[in-house]
Amino acid sequence: MKKACIISVGNELLNGHTVDTNAAYLSGELFSTGIPVGGVYTVGDDIVSILRAMNLAAGDADVVLMTGGLGPTDDDITRQVFAKFLGRELEFHEELFEKIEDFFVRRSLKMPEKNRIQAYIPAGAKAIANDVGTAPGIMAGLKDKLFFAMPGVPFEMKKMFKESVLPELERFGQGQAVAVKKLRCFGAGESTIAEMMGDMMMRGRNPLINCTVSYGVITLHIIAEAEDKAKALKMAEDDERRLRGILGELIYGTGEQSLGEVVGQELARQHKTIATAESCTGGLLAKLITDIPGASKYFLQGLVTYSNSAKIKELGVSAELIEKYGAVSEEVSASMAGGVRKTAGTDFAIGITGIAGPDGGSEEKPVGLVYISVDCGRGCETRRFIFSGDREFIRFRAAQTALNMVRLRLKT
Ligand code: ATP
Repeated sequence: MKKACIISVGNELLNGHTVDTNAAYLSGELFSTGIPVGGVYTVGDDIVSILRAMNLAAGDADVVLMTGGLGPTDDDITRQVFAKFLGRELEFHEELFEKIEDFFVRRSLKMPEKNRIQAYIPAGAKAIANDVGTAPGIMAGLKDKLFFAMPGVPFEMKKMFKESVLPELERFGQGQAVAVKKLRCFGAGESTIAEMMGDMMMRGRNPLINCTVSYGVITLHIIAEAEDKAKALKMAEDDERRLRGILGELIYGTGEQSLGEVVGQELARQHKTIATAESCTGGLLAKLITDIPGASKYFLQGLVTYSNSAKIKELGVSAELIEKYGAVSEEVSASMAGGVRKTAGTDFAIGITGIAGPDGGSEEKPVGLVYISVDCGRGCETRRFIFSGDREFIRFRAAQTALNMVRLRLKT
């Protein structure tokens, strides 16, 4: 299978000044094209590093995509290194020069002499048009491999990639295709899910199944490779079916779906409404719900009742209950959910109370202890969790878990 390699050039990428978004963008695009990326090199603006990266990339990959260092200043040396790598001279192209000059004329500017260098490309290479900047890209073949250099400015690079590079890659990558399906899971740890999947996660398998984790959401990436897209898609779909059979309710969605989106869709479908009463999550749950456009159809109210007095005044939690069990307790959590459900007049309500830390924990009630209640009128389910991690993680995990509890409740 043909593989690609990306080289990101620029000192600013090495000193933390600029995040390498070009490599992330190109990796995604190449993946969808069916030419997966086997490696990414990030190098500074110096001849030795760029040349070494080009040689390493050429050793591993069939397609090499470079970004950055095509500008007119002395530190922009990608074109010179490209020529050196190919063992060819840089050649001046009158028609490229005129285009660059025209770029300035159209903006009523005089072209600085420095920009002349951008009209040079290695002998035998092809210039790639750049309508939105001065630097043309460069494309060259060497043996049976393809090399591209594109500007570093993300906006210029993306336009050039889509319009000129992608069609070349599609031709080059004919006879191979990749299809990807993403399954989103919540409610069990990574190792539990891996164990349930058995040998489906074996390395070297096709489809390959990779797993990523973010705040308790486990994403399974099913990556199928085949001669054509339809076949790859069928293989990925077969695996999706198998995984659904194995993981059942743990799978909450597909693609980029969030729990907030899935819960929102289901609330809307069932014509149900929801309200929230939050303490330790400080409104994060309401944010996750209202991140979804159209949430006003089902989300009626969200209260952040951080203090005991707010819980008493806004939600009708009794002072005696707080006194007896403490603000972080099963009883108060349930009373918060019941209180906001009455105030807002919704079908569902969530109450969350906990200790996000880093201070405020005790032996009996440690940092990470969170009670979450889902009241649906027919009863209130309260669950106790102890999340580990920092304040941000505990809060996010609690909000996500609350959404997952509602998701499961909506199925009953
Ligand atoms: P120019 O003609 O504008 O000089 P160039 O091809 O020389 O373009 P660079 O000078 O390397 O590109 O980068 C221009 C700007 O683009 C950088 O200052 C940086 O902000 C952004 N940039 C460069 N490379 C990347 C990258 N890999 N990811 C994200 N941004 C980048």
